[in-house]
Amino acid sequence: MIRTRFAPSPTGYLHVGGARTALFSWAYARKHGGKFVLRIEDTDLERSTETSVNAIIEGMKWLGLDWDEGPYRQMQRLARYREVAEQLLRADRAYWCYASKEELEHMREQQRARGAKPRYDGRWRPENAKRAGLTPPAGVKPVLRFRNPDEGTVTFIDLVKGPVTVANGEIDDLVILRADGVPTYNFGVVVDDLDMDITHVIRGDDHVNNTPRQVNMFQALGAPLPQFAHAPMILGADGERLSKRHGAVSVMQYPEDGYLPEALFNYLARLGWSHGDAEKFAREQFVEWFDLAHVSRSTAQFDAAKLAWLNHEYIKEADPGRLAALVAPRIERDGGKLADGPALAEAVKLLKDRATTLEHMAESAMMFYKRIEPSKALIAEHLTPEVMPAVRELAGSLERVEWQRPKLAEAVKAVVGKFGHKMPKIAMPLRVMLLGRTQTPSIDAVLELLGRDTVLARLQPYLVES
Ligand code: GLU
Repeated sequence: MIRTRFAPSPTGYLHVGGARTALFSWAYARKHGGKFVLRIEDTDLERSTETSVNAIIEGMKWLGLDWDEGPYRQMQRLARYREVAEQLLRADRAYWCYASKEELEHMREQQRARGAKPRYDGRWRPENAKRAGLTPPAGVKPVLRFRNPDEGTVTFIDLVKGPVTVANGEIDDLVILRADGVPTYNFGVVVDDLDMDITHVIRGDDHVNNTPRQVNMFQALGAPLPQFAHAPMILGADGERLSKRHGAVSVMQYPEDGYLPEALFNYLARLGWSHGDAEKFAREQFVEWFDLAHVSRSTAQFDAAKLAWLNHEYIKEADPGRLAALVAPRIERDGGKLADGPALAEAVKLLKDRATTLEHMAESAMMFYKRIEPSKALIAEHLTPEVMPAVRELAGSLERVEWQRPKLAEAVKAVVGKFGHKMPKIAMPLRVMLLGRTQTPSIDAVLELLGRDTVLARLQPYLVES
């Protein structure tokens, strides 16, 4: 049974990079009929917050990344980490270290002065402490360190990057339990991946360098290794690590900006993974196609324009009722009165082919729910003496015509023909009078949507002959 996990540290919002990694883990489990586990790695007591836990959960739910187990929380598993730590201690694969901060700093300074890489020198390894005559200083709470092998190499096969080998001599003895008993990341992650029977550790490649340490711990525990797959980092268009400068990096900013979850989902799926040249595909299709072999080794670039394009595509095919429900609060927020205009789902039908985001759609729909008086300049430009006779004639026929789009289009065409004007000559002044702007859906659609009473009432003030 395949088991994957997403293990965020709750120190901020759900970042699009984290969400992309979660998406890959989720898809891998779903594809293989496995289980997807959510684990909150909240051991950084200073930076972890409940707000962040909620933001992560909210972001995952919005994207539709459902989990089968969890959220587990590391801070509720302290007894278990202590138990495994003691197991390592008994096997002489871990030891207490009493070195003070100042002492360690001094040690590193000396190493740097010698031109050596700063690393813990193993002074509290029992045999070294004994040789140096060190005894535990009174009143000092020790940390527990993992005894990394001194010799040989450590190797794992990354399902994305291929084999990775590091000399053990490069790795120092890592703190695994802090003085307060809280595990460090590398230890907590090993115990949890082990206890939670994780078969595939899929995560961002900022963790490649941690993996050899983790592999050594798995081995010290006599545990089988999970498979590892490190997905590439996501960069902005300028090649820098993705950050706020490149646009929204918090998943939950996207619903606010008017993106549909299926658009962001689809977009994230393509960040560091591909299936031929397929760009737009549904969630089920992604699950069917996803495999680690097609996760890219090179960095992925965040392209806001492509995401906007996808959003536009999904908006076009979305159900108008659903879109209306998402657009309604935006219109009310900006002072539009839904009760004063046509059914929003009908307006949405007219606007959705042109909207990139729900925010754009709300902006355009506003003309139906908030009377926008045309500016003097628009009136002067479009309501010219030349066209007004035709407009008056049309207003007359609008009193009688059957109120449905084809009939309305006919009525407009008839006037256009009779007066020998071009279509826009008539449509523009109508738009200006009815909606206060020149950019609207086609005029017959606008007429139908507004309804006879509103149309006639809005035209009326302009029709009196001076
Ligand atoms: N808590 C780690 C992070 O957010 C998880 C890394 C992992 O998946 O092992 O980066």
